[in-house]
Amino acid sequence: MFGRNSFAKLKHRKRQTSKGKNGTKLIKSCFCYYSSCILIFPCPAQGRVNSMLKLAELLSLAGLKLFFLNTNRIQERLTHFADVEARFAKYPGFRFITIPDCLPEDYRQKHNKLEVIKSLEVKSKPILKRLLIETRPPVNFIIGDGILGSPLDAAFELGIPNFRFRTISTCSFWSYFCIPDVIEACELPIKGVFVEIEVEEDMDRLITKVPGMEKFLRCRDLPSCCRVSDTTDPYLLMMVNEATQSPRAQALILNTFEDPEAPILSQIRNHRPKTYTIGLLHELLKTKHRSIKTQESSYQSSNSLCEVDRSCITWLDTQPSQSVLYISFGSITVMTREQLMEFWHGIVNSKKRFLWVIRPDSVTNKDGDVEKIPEELQDGPKEREYIVKWAPHEEVLAHEAVGGFLKHNGWNSTLESIVAGVPMICWPYFADQQVNSRYVSEVWKLGLDMKDVCEREFVRSTARMAELARKSVSEGGSSSCNLNRLIEDIRLMSSRQAHDN
Ligand code: UDP
Repeated sequence: MFGRNSFAKLKHRKRQTSKGKNGTKLIKSCFCYYSSCILIFPCPAQGRVNSMLKLAELLSLAGLKLFFLNTNRIQERLTHFADVEARFAKYPGFRFITIPDCLPEDYRQKHNKLEVIKSLEVKSKPILKRLLIETRPPVNFIIGDGILGSPLDAAFELGIPNFRFRTISTCSFWSYFCIPDVIEACELPIKGVFVEIEVEEDMDRLITKVPGMEKFLRCRDLPSCCRVSDTTDPYLLMMVNEATQSPRAQALILNTFEDPEAPILSQIRNHRPKTYTIGLLHELLKTKHRSIKTQESSYQSSNSLCEVDRSCITWLDTQPSQSVLYISFGSITVMTREQLMEFWHGIVNSKKRFLWVIRPDSVTNKDGDVEKIPEELQDGPKEREYIVKWAPHEEVLAHEAVGGFLKHNGWNSTLESIVAGVPMICWPYFADQQVNSRYVSEVWKLGLDMKDVCEREFVRSTARMAELARKSVSEGGSSSCNLNRLIEDIRLMSSRQAHDN
């Protein structure tokens, strides 16, 4: 809990502030404002910005004041492609603020998004700290993206209470959390040279050191950072470090709901008793808007960082019920030209109708340079198929014509698929997606791994899980109640902080 020690640190912050360049002005401001204000800081990536904006809107609807911090590049894209400015203008206590991402354009183009995020984190830390000291009204509560250490460090140094928000599933969070035990039990590293695919390892061997998953978690289902032959690999260490850092925050917020993840949630709550499950955020937000009778248009709004091509909805309107396979690998996945063409031939040969999202930057060569999308896969409608650069995802999944979803198992789109009741075919790409796809196929029976068999049973399970998901966000459901608890706790902790300040 937020203790005396932290309050002392906050007082130290005020003293530090008074020595700053604008000392006199800032001291005065400190004593003028007592209202509580939350800072939300997502990692600059589509899935994360999307879900944290939804959390921000839910908190704003409850009347909380907050700053939403984006990098200037993300803010530019949001302003250009989404309706965020108009939408959030309705909340007088809400304000977007930005920090530079400190990265030259060519760096961003040549490095994968994880490296970009890591570099941003190092460079943004001092900026973030200064911003927290100088922003008015003073920030007295932080909700930071769990993948970023910088909000946690800054909150800790300045004595500001903070909660961590993880945009991944509970099961993948737990598997990251247990990696040190898996290493200690010598179940990692993977034997062989992974990069050149000379893997000697039996990738189907069971991992025994992730409690609750002993019967089905195979070596191949571990998060992708584990696919290394050396446990001192910097990326593996970074992910382990992030998982073990989580107890430094006073609570954990997860975009999930209780029913499917209950056994693993109870494992996590042994370590992190204050864990709020408030997913599915996008559905919860719709439910709240409905309950206060907001106009339909406002809860179909987008937080998109790319131009949404809505023409595919018109095409879907002309397709038979449940006849279309929707294909999307999210905002980060890249593949080689050969892989893309393998998918293309497989899908075309299946003679099924399909709607496919192919981002212009989704094909790269071995050096990581973006390659041109092959001519036959350029966007536009054909008889049985439609290719777009970016789709209105939630609307597509909810469309009557969509009967299946071939995907990479990013957590946001997995949740969106669960609530829409659409069965999934999983082709996990990286990070948490390997664990998610194992759960989708083996535990929840909502879809299939591309290597496994297809069973009719999946369809019945998707309907049942969709019903549980909708129940969790309805009035009195677990996520709805947890959100109320979260809001109360934030109010209490931040007003205590403001009062002491
Ligand atoms: N998305 C979208 N349009 C698309 C593809 C994806 O709006 O054509 C959104 C999708 O709704 C989800 C996010 O992008 O909220 C992707 O997040 P996810 O966690 O599924 O995967 P990531 O992109 O982080 O790998």
